[in-house]
Amino acid sequence: MLCAGRLGGLGSRAAPLWPGRAGSRGLGARIRARGVSTSWFPVGAAFNVKPQGRRLDLFGERRADFVKIAHPEPAFREAAEEACTSIGTAVEKLNTNVELYRSLQKLLADKKLVDSLDPETRRVAELFMFDFEISGIHLDKEKRKRAVDLNVKILDLSNTFLTGTNFPNKIEKHLLPEHIHQNFVVAGNHVIVDGLHAESPDDLVREAAYKIFLYPNAGQLRCLEELLSNRDLLAKLVGYSTYSHRALQGTIAQSPETVMQFLEKLSEKLSERTIRDFEMIRGMKMKLNPRNSELMPWDPPYYSGVIRAERYNIEPSLYCPFFSLGACMEGLNTLFGRLLGITLYAEQPAKGEVWCEGVRKLAVVHESEGLLGYIYCDFFQRAGKPHQDCHFTIRGGRLKEDGDYQLPVVVLMLNLPHPSRNLPTLLTPAMMENLFHEMGHAMHSMLGRTRYQHVTGTRCPTDFAEVPSILMEYFANDHRVVSQFARHYQTGQALPKNMVSRLCESKKVGAAADMQLQVFYAALDQIYHGKHPLTASTTDILRETQEKFYGLPYVPNTAWQLRFSHLVGYGAKYYSYLMSRAVASMVWKECFRRDPFNRTAGERYRREMLAHGGGKEPMLMVQGMLQKCPSIDDFVSALVSDLDPDFETFLMDSE
Ligand SMILES: [Zn+2]
Repeated sequence: MLCAGRLGGLGSRAAPLWPGRAGSRGLGARIRARGVSTSWFPVGAAFNVKPQGRRLDLFGERRADFVKIAHPEPAFREAAEEACTSIGTAVEKLNTNVELYRSLQKLLADKKLVDSLDPETRRVAELFMFDFEISGIHLDKEKRKRAVDLNVKILDLSNTFLTGTNFPNKIEKHLLPEHIHQNFVVAGNHVIVDGLHAESPDDLVREAAYKIFLYPNAGQLRCLEELLSNRDLLAKLVGYSTYSHRALQGTIAQSPETVMQFLEKLSEKLSERTIRDFEMIRGMKMKLNPRNSELMPWDPPYYSGVIRAERYNIEPSLYCPFFSLGACMEGLNTLFGRLLGITLYAEQPAKGEVWCEGVRKLAVVHESEGLLGYIYCDFFQRAGKPHQDCHFTIRGGRLKEDGDYQLPVVVLMLNLPHPSRNLPTLLTPAMMENLFHEMGHAMHSMLGRTRYQHVTGTRCPTDFAEVPSILMEYFANDHRVVSQFARHYQTGQALPKNMVSRLCESKKVGAAADMQLQVFYAALDQIYHGKHPLTASTTDILRETQEKFYGLPYVPNTAWQLRFSHLVGYGAKYYSYLMSRAVASMVWKECFRRDPFNRTAGERYRREMLAHGGGKEPMLMVQGMLQKCPSIDDFVSALVSDLDPDFETFLMDSE
């Protein structure tokens, strides 16, 4: 499962009748692909009308991972949960099967045999070996038992820690000024604080929320320390010097040393810009609250938002009418058509094929190769649906024994408002960007042509996984791309170019400080998973790292790390998002910025990056795409130059 870096934006406002721009484009196109003939419909039309009143269909034999999270019926979710557990147990049994391990070991030791394998097979064999060794299979019996015990303990601590990251804190009512009580939940004599309230305009509310929500909890602190030390023990037991060394195998970065170098260089290059950002934010705080203008960690998100709104007129409701869901889908269709010769067609799902009314099925069709795969679009809000935009692999692509290719099937899950009879779903700019992001993951899956399912599509190293999706964000922010599809749903007027550039420039407000914060989190994650025993308590390390990598003061009696849920899922790999962004930024600049519809670059992108899934070393894919070997400095420069104002945009605007 892959999720958007950011959560979706706000819902859209009601607006009158939809005249049916794409709806007038006639009926379904009949297309032949791989000898199968199906009715396919233009994609924009399919997304801008309310679905016909189809009854709630049952869900077929699909991947349990997705069902347990997203199925509307609790009974299905529970059954899927059970299926996941038993699949997990079966995989665990295979991963600890000594006979399998020995024969793979024998194979990998035979150099002549290994050399005769194709590169993907070799890599998959190495990945399997790596999975085997994580469970300690290569150790003697006693140590193997120890590894199993540690794995169980780590799983347990991970779950406990995760639960604790969300747990609200409470404080006696009389300790908080009465006029801010209304911002929180009040229960009896207590005020309950369940988050940072980072967007609240009241400085005191943000301060109180920060200090209360981040107040250290002794149990959670112990849990984190145990989790980190057990991870360290396991890593050492299976032969690594730190947990981070173990986690970074096979990634772009490859070693903790490279990650730290990347973060340190990035921090150094950012620092001047971050200081300027902090000064600007402090200036705004002073203007709005002259009596209390010291800049604190709870200030930047809110005041950056105020500056953005003041400088650029970017109220989402101004943009929404130009971004009907149908228009956005047409935009993606046009982009994929021009870059890759691919068309998206809406296909009527069979009875019982989808799990919920409103789920659309897209056939992804290449102009000469035919059908490449299917994307189910579960785009609309419903009660109980997880509130995060996600991509799920339902069936991975693979070469079958009979020589046919098993086509990939994925689900994209978003949380968009429903269309009504008269009004299409209108997206905020943030939702539009998220849609492009998730479609980037989907195309990674659709265009993967790996021999093995183990490395299909998005099943690649964590620091590469977000490259295709973040790259799509660059397209979503380019006026040449946006102007292809953004039309006012009532008047048909094109989105004015200066509105696109205003939006892009507004995103740079406070962006250096924002990235600096990510660098701090990533460095903290590296240190926690680095050399053990740790040199100090996790809180002391947090304070030191914050001073070194962020710049705003540590607030006594707080422990932000106890809310850092990504330490569980991304242990030692939190830097991945920054690394993926750096690669995407380079790919954009080197290959697409001059011409975002360049077919040659599109084909190279497919051939060098998307086709391989996780079946090729990520750095080799990056090299193939960029036609050179980028250095850490190149990555850092790409990230930092994205923060600079785009003078070209302004020059073109004033013409
Ligand atoms: Zn993503």
